[in-house]
Amino acid sequence: MHDAAFETAGIDARYELLELEPEAVEDAVAAARGPDWLGLGVTAPYKRVVAALCDEIEPDAAAIGAVNNVVRTADGRLIGINTDAPGFRAGVELAMGRPLAGAEVVVAGAGGAAHAVVFACLAAGARRVTIGNRTAAAAAALAGRFALIGPGTASGVGLDDPVVRSALASADLAVNATTVGMVDLGATIPVDLLPDDATVFDLVYVPPETPLLSTARARGLRAANGSEMLIAQAAIAFERWTGISGMADVMRNAVAPLLADIEAPA
Ligand code: NAP
Repeated sequence: MHDAAFETAGIDARYELLELEPEAVEDAVAAARGPDWLGLGVTAPYKRVVAALCDEIEPDAAAIGAVNNVVRTADGRLIGINTDAPGFRAGVELAMGRPLAGAEVVVAGAGGAAHAVVFACLAAGARRVTIGNRTAAAAAALAGRFALIGPGTASGVGLDDPVVRSALASADLAVNATTVGMVDLGATIPVDLLPDDATVFDLVYVPPETPLLSTARARGLRAANGSEMLIAQAAIAFERWTGISGMADVMRNAVAPLLADIEAPA
């Protein structure tokens, strides 16, 4: 995605994968202060660790507690940013065909991605966010963390709690922000409880069609995987590194054939 955008923009740069052991992360981040660097992308499990190594963290990334991209300034300082939250918002509003403002949302999961999702929903003015997670305490902690972000309310309970079932009955949007469907199969959102006009958004994009999405589509619901979030967050990062916007289409064309080739977990 990024290399296609660099080529289109005529920028002599490339995106390289660094697969790092934990003890190598600090030196790798320090190296990115050098003049050849535009920045870094960061993925699990280092989104918190890298935040601690930046010179500055933008307020949204600090609130979410995770840095998924780093911007190198002209004078070699590293700014930690979070593009998952605006990427989610762009992807989900496209899938819903309406803004998040005023929406009732159910989120499955309370890990790193769920932090960005719940933050984005509340910051965008969602009316109510109900978080259901396998480990109920993590959902409650996440709801408490963002209680004051926007006008809406947040609550966190176990995924099989009756509170989730009742929230689903009036939800505009149900989001899977767990790893279920990607690394393994497991309990997720009972889409049969959703209203007919609800949207199901699965952050998982590998494989492109999870059992959750198949079930939602079979019920006639709007449903989308996380690929538009992936592309949107990457395009935002690219703009922050280069000042060049409007690369989402180039990035989508580059990544779509790769994502289509990946198989579902057995
Ligand atoms: P994470 O921090 O490891 O969190 C994993 C979450 O999944 C936790 O809430 C965990 O619950 C839950 N979970 C794991 N196995 C489960 C099971 N068998 N049954 C029920 N719940 C289970 O992972 P993450 O970084 O948040 O990533 C979550 C997903 O989002 C991944 O699939 C990732 O690829 C995707 N993602 C997509 C994008 C995108 O751009 N589309 C961006 C970021 C992440 P417990 O708390 O109980 O362990």
